[in-house]
Amino acid sequence: MDKKITLKEPKESPLCPKCGAAMTRRTARKGPMTGYDFWGCKRYPRCKGTRPLYEKSQVSSKEALPEF
Ligand SMILES: [Zn+2]
Repeated sequence: MDKKITLKEPKESPLCPKCGAAMTRRTARKGPMTGYDFWGCKRYPRCKGTRPLYEKSQVSSKEALPEF
């Protein structure tokens, strides 16, 4: 059951590293990055690709990425 998520997308949204779809800006609600924004794949939950909002972020492993 897919919930339709309507979020405003910034112009420069990146592409999902997993499936190449556009990404939407989201806010982590749990995990180590609670309260921080990040990019989540538009196809979530079918695709769980994420990217840090800022490429500078030191995110070296999947485990460090926020959960939805
Ligand atoms: Zn994806």
